[in-house]
Amino acid sequence: MNDTLYLVIPCYNEEEALPETARQLKEKMDEYIEAGTVSKDSKILFVNDGSKDGTWALIQSLCDQDPLFAGVCLSRNRGHQNALLAGLMTAKDHADVAISLDADLQDDIHAMDRMLMQYYAGHDVVYGVRSSRKKDTFFKRHSAQGFYRLMRALGVDVVYNHADYRLMSRRALEGLAEFDEVNLFLRGIVPLIGFPSTTVDYERGKRIAGESKYPFKKMLSFALDGITSFSIKPLKLITSLGILIFVVSLIMVIWALVAYFSGWTVSGWTSILASIWMIGGIQLLCLGVIGQYVGKIYGEAKHRPRYLISETIIHKRP
Ligand code: UDP
Ligand code: MG
Repeated sequence: MNDTLYLVIPCYNEEEALPETARQLKEKMDEYIEAGTVSKDSKILFVNDGSKDGTWALIQSLCDQDPLFAGVCLSRNRGHQNALLAGLMTAKDHADVAISLDADLQDDIHAMDRMLMQYYAGHDVVYGVRSSRKKDTFFKRHSAQGFYRLMRALGVDVVYNHADYRLMSRRALEGLAEFDEVNLFLRGIVPLIGFPSTTVDYERGKRIAGESKYPFKKMLSFALDGITSFSIKPLKLITSLGILIFVVSLIMVIWALVAYFSGWTVSGWTSILASIWMIGGIQLLCLGVIGQYVGKIYGEAKHRPRYLISETIIHKRP
């Protein structure tokens, strides 16, 4: 018990929430350091994900005031998952254990007590799981829960109601570093790392300040990313659909021949028009799904860097 803990917090335009977040987290960390739960070299690491407001200036001034704070600045906005990865990979080189959380403190920071207990009890990964979503909007609650169910149904191993609030040991972080996929969906990757893991429940609160940085469009594309990065079931469904349509078309051909030889060739305008539209629609849909996967391969094949760091501030304690 005296391991170095890094809290990793991705921040995108969070100048409104940051001062309060920093205050609450500092209080918590001081408590841990005082009690000897974590070492004096532990840090609160903010990752600036190319914010357009004064977030980085704020992080810089926090770092100057107190060596407990540290900062990483990305060269531009790369999205939540990449920012988080940048922070975790920085933590990997300095800490024994890292906990990732959002800048808006929607995740109850007191759950970290139990996370650390589980870590010292020998777990490498501790997932924070939302026991209730009472404070989320109706839409967010239902869309998120539907998403977890869908992922499960598609055979993806995700922890139900767990977002990115989790503890990872250095061993687990080193494991994470081995996964170099560009289409990053950490919730799907972490369970693949293995090692002993457990969950800790907490109640999800409201954003302390500012607005959600995940508008509906981003949320939807994130969900699609999760599915197409971890499941090929949609492709299998398409194959089944193709077989089904083929069987139906055989029946249709037989029916058409029977009709022809029986001499009742009616002017079947409606049925022809309907089938052309339907099959055309299904084909386009299937092409779209396949296109999603081809797009993924395209991204992975280019293997562009997931983030670039323009500046890192980690002050040593005097
Ligand atoms: N975030 C980020 N880059 C982005 C969007 C969001 O680093 O492009 C961060 C954001 O600052 C916050 C976390 O990701 O710390 C989660 O975002 P938010 O709380 O807005 O999402 P929600 O809780 O509404 O899903
Ligand atoms: Mg939030």
